[in-house]
Amino acid sequence: MFRRSRRDLARWFTFLMGSILVAFAIAAYYREVASELATVDRSLYQRTRVMATNVRYHFQEGEWQLDLENVPLLGDQTVPLNSSLVYARWYDDEGQLVQFFGVPTADRLLHEPGFQTVEILQDNNPLMFERLRQLTMPIYRGGSLLGYLQVATPLTTVEVKLNEFRLFVALAVPVSVGLISWSSWLLGGVAMLPIRQTHQQLERFTADASHELRAPLTAILNNAQVGLMADAAEQQWRLQNVANLAESMSSLVSSLLLLARYQGTFVSESLECVDLTPLLRGLTDEFAAQAIAQPLHLTHDLPAEPVMVNAEPYLLRQAIACLLNNACKYTPAGGEVQLRLSVTGHRAMIQVEDNGVGIPAEDLPHLFERFYRVDKERSRQTGGFGLGLAIAQQIVTAHRGKLSVDSILGRGSTFQIELPLTFNLES
Ligand code: ADP
Repeated sequence: MFRRSRRDLARWFTFLMGSILVAFAIAAYYREVASELATVDRSLYQRTRVMATNVRYHFQEGEWQLDLENVPLLGDQTVPLNSSLVYARWYDDEGQLVQFFGVPTADRLLHEPGFQTVEILQDNNPLMFERLRQLTMPIYRGGSLLGYLQVATPLTTVEVKLNEFRLFVALAVPVSVGLISWSSWLLGGVAMLPIRQTHQQLERFTADASHELRAPLTAILNNAQVGLMADAAEQQWRLQNVANLAESMSSLVSSLLLLARYQGTFVSESLECVDLTPLLRGLTDEFAAQAIAQPLHLTHDLPAEPVMVNAEPYLLRQAIACLLNNACKYTPAGGEVQLRLSVTGHRAMIQVEDNGVGIPAEDLPHLFERFYRVDKERSRQTGGFGLGLAIAQQIVTAHRGKLSVDSILGRGSTFQIELPLTFNLES
């Protein structure tokens, strides 16, 4: 599925970018053609105007003629104006050819005044044409039309330049399209990576969630079926089992709902200004009974002054309670658990430290993944689904905070929550 999407993405991107590139190449080509023609036209116009000064009245012939014998010189006064012209033709005011030099033509003026691109046979070969730029200019003197001067210059240099341009485009466009296709394939892969990872995570999560729900469901079914055939005393016991299993399922479903609900970060308007010191003191008091029962030495180290953060108190409490609960769960009898609060820079640091079983280094990177349990058997005995830390991390992240862990196997663990402090500007 991802491969096909990546291929489609690369294909569409290449098609789009390729089309844009081809459109640009065509536009650039026509711009080049227009610019070259404009240069030729300018030069042709200047030559024609200078030549027009040579139109004189010949009294013997009784008409205006072009003095081709005394062609004016160009620029540096060394090149006659008619050099590099293919032809120059002088028509009278009725469009009748009077005189010409270069390529012969029909007796009548065939073109309207202005610039035209025309073709003539090259070496009288019907298959070979030469392109020319021709200007037909009406010549006036004293307000009356004397005749038409028509001159043409070859477009050979322009064509050579345009051929080079076309060759460059013909090579550059396919190479660029190839590069675009290759880079879009690479980019497609990079763009697909987070989607692929999210998809894999979702698949794993769905598989894990259904697996976790199936086990207690099967147990409920078994207990119910056996209970139906059992005597009253056993039925009582079976019912108690069903109630316990249903309770565990309900807690799993609540955890899943919690994970689904609090994605992303909270908007600051939905948070309250919370003093962490009394909140943590309250939590230690709550866990005191459990610590005495285990027995564990549970202590706290809290500052005297308030430590204010923007938080959703119920959820933040739940995240810290999860860390405390784990610390108590994974610390053997006689061990120590300490809850600390301090301020570093602009952040509040909540630490839960224990000297319990610790966590192997290879498990640390996966610890916050959903359904991840270090020791599956032991966690099942202690009743965990491997969701507590995933939920705690999601809650802390939603508060723009960070949850991290340091642990040495057999020596204990320290979980740390960093939260941005709130500064009360009025105080
Ligand atoms: P669980 O509900 O299984 O405790 P958690 O997400 O809370 O799930 O924890 C994931 C795993 O991390 C646990 O299975 C446990 O192996 C390990 N763990 C968490 N906290 C501690 C701790 N303080 N000491 C040792 N191991 C811990």
